[in-house]
Amino acid sequence: MPGFELFGPEERKEVNDVLETGIMMRYGFDGPRKGIWKSKELEAEICRKFNAGYTQLVSSGTAALTTALTALGVGAGDEVIMPTFTFVASFEAVLSVGALPVLADVDETLTLNPESVRQAITPRTKCIMPVHMCGGMADLDPLMEICKEYDLLLLEDACQSIGASYKGRYLGTVGNAGTFSFDFVKTVTCAEGGAILTNQKDIYAKCDGFSDHGHDHLGVDRGADLHPFIGCNFRISELHAAVGLAQFRKLDQFLDIQQRNHRQLQSILSGLEEVSFRRLPDPSGDSHTFLSWFLPTEEITWAVVAELKQQGILGGNFYWFDHNWHYIRKWDHLRKADTLNNLSDLQKQALRDLSNAAFPASDSIMGRCISTQIGLLWTEEQTKERGEKIAAIVRKVSSRTSSYSAS
Ligand SMILES: *Cc1c(COP(=O)(O)O)cnc(C)c1O
Repeated sequence: MPGFELFGPEERKEVNDVLETGIMMRYGFDGPRKGIWKSKELEAEICRKFNAGYTQLVSSGTAALTTALTALGVGAGDEVIMPTFTFVASFEAVLSVGALPVLADVDETLTLNPESVRQAITPRTKCIMPVHMCGGMADLDPLMEICKEYDLLLLEDACQSIGASYKGRYLGTVGNAGTFSFDFVKTVTCAEGGAILTNQKDIYAKCDGFSDHGHDHLGVDRGADLHPFIGCNFRISELHAAVGLAQFRKLDQFLDIQQRNHRQLQSILSGLEEVSFRRLPDPSGDSHTFLSWFLPTEEITWAVVAELKQQGILGGNFYWFDHNWHYIRKWDHLRKADTLNNLSDLQKQALRDLSNAAFPASDSIMGRCISTQIGLLWTEEQTKERGEKIAAIVRKVSSRTSSYSAS
């Protein structure tokens, strides 16, 4: 998955273009920058590739979520429905705009279960935020149906699934807005960076202004810009955008390699009757950054994970259920509302509710799931070896557990 595995002369060339002029800021300095506009160029390429109306680059995926929520008008006291399995950025962004995170279960897609979303709706609900985890896609049709029925906004977090699609449309372009992350371990990296995609001009204009202190970018120079609303600074630098530009041009190459390695690994694990795979609402749209697979029980999964660790091959195989960043089970700081400053009373109440909530349906999915990250540098031989080692461990653990239950 990570684009940093294929960093090379293309990235260095783009960065050098910026270093030649020394203009590292994305706005202004029209003369001295000598026609070098890396951020604008990357935004245009993202729009073209994904058939998106507008793209705004920002400093991170978290900043992209915060900017998108703000531009969509999500704020104090609004509820945002998000999944139990995601990255901490989801609730960080929701809380930072004064809104309330409401968690709904995931299903075998590893993304929001639309039925669970329906049950989480209240009169305060303003936005549904599906997270397209691990290179795959949420089931967007039923979620859009719910949005229509209850007049809600849809914000797609596609930070982990750039290049994936749903029924012919690229992820991030289906909802009212969508986000990408270009942090160091994502499919396309800028070192640090993010983007908001939208087809609505007004939402784009708000993202553009908000991420740069409210500048309307309509003045003859920065000093002449007006400030129609209050913003902040989530700007990306030209150096980061330059890296991203070279990386983004390699996206098809990354996706091809991932597909090839994923296919090979999946065909090895398919031979195991104990193993089933993540359900993809549109299998043809997978970006193949991970192969996510299920074992029959949580007990067997813990045993497989222990064995992977013992054999020194746990790295690259993620047991999200026991991971500090990605699943509700380990988000003690969220449940205890450990913030540095004061939250609103409504936010405090929402986190109290969350600390008392149980998610047995999500636990029964995530407790049995392992995601194997697909490397860009694996040779056919290495992929085979990796798959066979995992398969041997699954067989070993399964025979042990079945002999237990037989005795
Ligand atoms: C990485 C990630 C983010 C945040 O991106 P950063 O650029 O690291 O801030 C948000 N959501 C998901 C699902 C992610 O994986």
